[in-house]
Amino acid sequence: MLEALMPVALTPFLSTIPTPMRDHVKLFIPGPVEVSADTYAAMSQPMIGHRSKDFTNLYADIQPKLQTLFGTTQRVYISTSSAWGLMEGSIRNLVNKKVLNCCCGAFSDKWYDVSLRCGKQAEELKVEWGQPITAALVEAKLATGEFDAVTLVHSETSTGVLNPIEEIAKLKTKFPDVMFIVDTVSSFTTVPMNFDALGIDILLTGSQKAFAMPPGMGLFAASAAAYARAATVKDRGYYFDLLEFQANGEKDMTPSTPCIALIYGLQHQLNKMIEEGLDNRYARHAKLNGMVHAWVKTHGFEFFSAEGYRTKGLTCVKNKDGFDVGAFVSLLKKRHNLAIDGGYGKIKGKTFRISNMGDESEASITELIAALDDTIGAL
Ligand SMILES: *Cc1c(COP(=O)(O)O)cnc(C)c1O
Repeated sequence: MLEALMPVALTPFLSTIPTPMRDHVKLFIPGPVEVSADTYAAMSQPMIGHRSKDFTNLYADIQPKLQTLFGTTQRVYISTSSAWGLMEGSIRNLVNKKVLNCCCGAFSDKWYDVSLRCGKQAEELKVEWGQPITAALVEAKLATGEFDAVTLVHSETSTGVLNPIEEIAKLKTKFPDVMFIVDTVSSFTTVPMNFDALGIDILLTGSQKAFAMPPGMGLFAASAAAYARAATVKDRGYYFDLLEFQANGEKDMTPSTPCIALIYGLQHQLNKMIEEGLDNRYARHAKLNGMVHAWVKTHGFEFFSAEGYRTKGLTCVKNKDGFDVGAFVSLLKKRHNLAIDGGYGKIKGKTFRISNMGDESEASITELIAALDDTIGAL
């Protein structure tokens, strides 16, 4: 089993690093997550020109695969930025009047701040961290008629909450002029996602979480209404201009030189997903998440996120009295070369988080759990 964790001889440099039990710290933090050796190998293909036929062939090859994953007939775009670029870009492209930022944790709270920094009118819809945003709360706000856009983080990575996207997206039919912008950074490919059926306007995600790729690439789809809105919004800038993405996308190109190595990695990861089967992939994430949940209960911990609203790609554990999260995280790293997260933002130390996103398997989560048990015993 240990052998499975050893990278294959990837580069002369990596293969000369001594391997005590694992040649590097394996990441079980909720992003970035572990990147498999085969993904790195796929990224190491010779460089190509971004205006060449080689590039348009590459983009054209992954486009239908991305569309299947997004559940859309719309074009899916690649952005050479982390997800925050797209989160900011969505605000700059789609808000004329005022945006409602649904806030339930560190990432969604920050989106409000970003809206203000973009010079937009914005308002927070706040719930306590660990609680979900409900459709009723969103509806009451949108009914004021003040807003022309709303942002929602589907899986709030800081708290482990999975917001009820289907119910919230249904409001789109009641408020067709409001742009629904959804961040799925830590839920995408862990649970089914159907952009067209949801009827939302922007769905965005990033490369370093469930895709199990290095950071630096964002992906998004946009509705016809989103293009129409963008055309009316001033000061969209260039780098994240939706209409630039659209014009270039029609030629299987990107507005600026993209992260070609990451796109090779994406092609490889998409092929793996298709080979596994999407339903199997979602079932695997549910199963591995369940294994971590069982560990949490065995050790008398509770969950930070409300029951019925727990995300599938990670677990946010509520700390209990007398348990030193910092010491636990350090000792796990020291004894096993494994990294989990000691809590994010204002709940650092009060929670800890364990990821099961990406290329993890029953075997690797079993090994993680054994290491967690060993570390708790040694504290
Ligand atoms: C990680 C994360 C982000 C930020 O991604 P960056 O790659 O740092 O831009 C945004 N939203 C959520 C929900 C995340 O988990």
